[in-house]
Amino acid sequence: MKEAEPGSPSIGGAASVTTTNTSAALNVEEHASTPPASDRHRTGFPKQGGQSMSYWLQQVRCDPLLDHRTSETLPKEADTVIIGSGISGTLVTKHHLETWPSKSVVIVEAREFCSGATGRNAGHCKPDQWRHYGKFEKAYGKAQAIKIMNNESATWKALVAYVQENNVDCDLWVGETLDVPLDEDVAKAARDVFERYANAGGKVDHIKVTHDPAKAAKISKIKGATACYAWQASTLQPWKLTAHIMRENLKKGANLQTYTVANSITSDGSGRRKWTVRTDRGAIACDTVVHATNAYSAALEPSLRGLITPKPHMCNRVVPPRALSGSKALCNSYGVLLADGALFSINPRCTADGNILFGGSNPGQRALDEWVEQNPGNCINDGLADLESVTKCVKDFVNEEFDGWREAEFGPGEGFAYSWSGIIGLSVDGVPFVGALPGKEGQWICAGHHGHGMARIFTAAPGLVKLMNGKEWGETGLPDVYQMTPQRLEKLKKVDVDTPKVAII
Ligand SMILES: Cc1cc2nc3c(=O)[nH]c(=O)nc-3n(C[C@H](O)[C@H](O)[C@H](O)COP(=O)(O)OP(=O)(O)OC[C@H]3O[C@@H](n4cnc5c(N)ncnc54)[C@H](O)[C@@H]3O)c2cc1C
Repeated sequence: MKEAEPGSPSIGGAASVTTTNTSAALNVEEHASTPPASDRHRTGFPKQGGQSMSYWLQQVRCDPLLDHRTSETLPKEADTVIIGSGISGTLVTKHHLETWPSKSVVIVEAREFCSGATGRNAGHCKPDQWRHYGKFEKAYGKAQAIKIMNNESATWKALVAYVQENNVDCDLWVGETLDVPLDEDVAKAARDVFERYANAGGKVDHIKVTHDPAKAAKISKIKGATACYAWQASTLQPWKLTAHIMRENLKKGANLQTYTVANSITSDGSGRRKWTVRTDRGAIACDTVVHATNAYSAALEPSLRGLITPKPHMCNRVVPPRALSGSKALCNSYGVLLADGALFSINPRCTADGNILFGGSNPGQRALDEWVEQNPGNCINDGLADLESVTKCVKDFVNEEFDGWREAEFGPGEGFAYSWSGIIGLSVDGVPFVGALPGKEGQWICAGHHGHGMARIFTAAPGLVKLMNGKEWGETGLPDVYQMTPQRLEKLKKVDVDTPKVAII
């Protein structure tokens, strides 16, 4: 693995992370999203220095929001401190300001604004409309599994509505996403899940289904397609969307402090406030804390160790050859379903520059996962770039499946330009944690969104703020299984946990 990693930084200084041999709790995420039981207790704070530069972050280098600090010094006090400036922290801030316009809010962000998973993802907001139904049904029963699918649809609609109503400049594309199984076994498994979902009363009338391989290949342009499922979804520039929302927050009085790492949260000794958030730039006394720290949550909040696990994921940017540009450019987004649960998520940026982003659980991701298992200090290493094992799978796929790629002559600036890494936050039972942090009155969490937060957070964040405002869970409209409860925490903690070390690289 090391030889296959030209862009990876030295790992010599990485702190080791204690791992344990515990039986895996149920995880309903797909291939390459499941950390081995032995690795579930690794965690770490955001890597300082040497991060790879995602395509989204490359596009905004002169935006002053990147290193914005609303006040030169850190406020000593606030009503609420929100930790993390990804889409979760930014949306929680928005709804907090709308709910309590006069309360003071400080957002602390360890690095540049929105430089975690949100600023590094593959740019898809693709509501799962059937694909994981089987796994969720097995884990949580029919009603919850259907609720999860419906929530994803509601989340996508809420995101699109926000962008359109506010004219957000974020390269939004709305169109048909295609799920394309690449072999017959996968097609059969997909068909079984789809039919089970429909038979359970799941909404499928908005999904166009083709089981004829020839038709599927024609619709999808993927030669080896064995079926095709089409429904509405979106792609977008996630940093620009998040930045738009944060700028509105700042206008309403939020105080954003970038390059500020929250190191610990302790009870406030002064008696005036409940909590003190201690950072590398001083302390903030407050009554309410929101953990919007996703993959890094357990580094700051030890009760989450083993529940939310960070894992590096790659995203490739590919500039299509000239023969496949212009009128011949791809005009759908994709989920290409491969054997063994692997997946290419393809975002061809149809309304923007036509650069094609390949994310998802690329089959080459396995080699990276194995390497991280052996080098667990790298669980929060988003400095990884250009991993050959991952890029090779993208190359093999396009050469094999899209007409014209194999023969294409790539000039400088075309082709398999670059890949970067980001850290996804795996929740041990496959669904996010939204709600009050057990045993810590006044602390709240919205985290553990896997590689799929864009289809979850636009409803999860406002749901959390409703709970903070004393509303019942039912009023959030979220699937019950997303709720953070003492019972869920206890159940998931019933695995042996060695005292883990925290990776800081
Ligand atoms: C390569 C990749 C591709 C992906 N592709 C997709 C996709 O196409 N579609 C999709 O739906 N999802 C995708 N995802 C997942 C999606 O990006 C995430 O689920 C989502 O962005 C999570 O948002 P968040 O705000 O909760 O977390 P983040 O965006 O990670 O934000 C958390 C923030 O908290 C900060 N932070 C953490 N700890 C501290 C601390 N102690 N002090 C201060 N700040 C702290 C971090 O620096 C970070 O900025 C992808 C993820 C990756 C990595």
